[in-house]
Amino acid sequence: MSFIVVVGSSNTDMVITAPRIPAHGETILGGSFMVVPGGKGANQAVAAARLGAAVTFVARIGTDLFGDEALNQYAEDGINTQYIVRDCKAPSGIAMIMVDEKGENAISVASGANMHLTPADVDCAAPVITTADVVLLQLEVPYETVRHTAAKAGRAGVPVILDPAPAQKLGTELLQHVDYLTPNEVEAELLTGIKVMDDTTADQAAHRLLDAGVGTVIITLGPRGAWWATENDSGLIPAEKVTAVDTTAAGDAFNGGLAVAIAEKWTLEKAIRFAGCTGALSVTELGAQSSLPVKAAVEALLN
Ligand code: ADP
Repeated sequence: MSFIVVVGSSNTDMVITAPRIPAHGETILGGSFMVVPGGKGANQAVAAARLGAAVTFVARIGTDLFGDEALNQYAEDGINTQYIVRDCKAPSGIAMIMVDEKGENAISVASGANMHLTPADVDCAAPVITTADVVLLQLEVPYETVRHTAAKAGRAGVPVILDPAPAQKLGTELLQHVDYLTPNEVEAELLTGIKVMDDTTADQAAHRLLDAGVGTVIITLGPRGAWWATENDSGLIPAEKVTAVDTTAAGDAFNGGLAVAIAEKWTLEKAIRFAGCTGALSVTELGAQSSLPVKAAVEALLN
């Protein structure tokens, strides 16, 4: 069984679906309310676990009820929670999400304990980080913690996948430790200044990131699929044709799938196809973690 360590965010998503998103100072009645687990780190940990990997999640949560509930959820998905730190000062991360009738949303995040995840927390998890088949990272925890983790995994020869989301500028001190970088089009543009509109611009953006020290760049293109590039080669892996219901967490599903495939040492093209099938299945159902598929479903679509 492959062994994946995810270092990242854990949030609780509070979702109100209403006829429309209120304007400044306005109150709207008639909404419905849902509480669901979220956070890019947690979503990607759950994605990999559903695909059959042994997953350890390194994160920080509060000592509140949201933290208790998150721990229960992760345990239900069989995730090792031994290195999740309970922060006695900061609350668990919360995302307040408003969704209107058209599915458009407005989101406000209070990162809470996520922003207190330190390099020292990562050092405590060194026994798992240095022996994993893959370490999977995103940008919802402090930059220095992400850089420290990538360097630590890199020194141990463990492949590092970084999903550079939410979009922010990154330096070579981080990118040189990244084996697989998986921006979407918006993130690729922010990182490179190149607007990704077609295969040519995707390739230009990917090469800008290769020049900054990344091993392999995979730009996800939503329903178009993904553009990959290494020093020597590049190409498009088209997406599977599915009926999209809710694209929340497509990127998280893709990264979870990619981590499993890289851990199993598949070829790059097969790994991206497997990741793409995971992403495609996640958009066919509502929700974030609730829409993440199991391995048998992904293999059925892949074949
Ligand atoms: P993000 O959610 O980070 O913006 P994308 O929208 O690019 O990421 O989706 C990630 C991956 O999920 C895509 O590369 C693709 O493989 C798959 N995917 C996303 N949307 C669809 C879709 N409508 N149909 C098929 N596959 C999809």
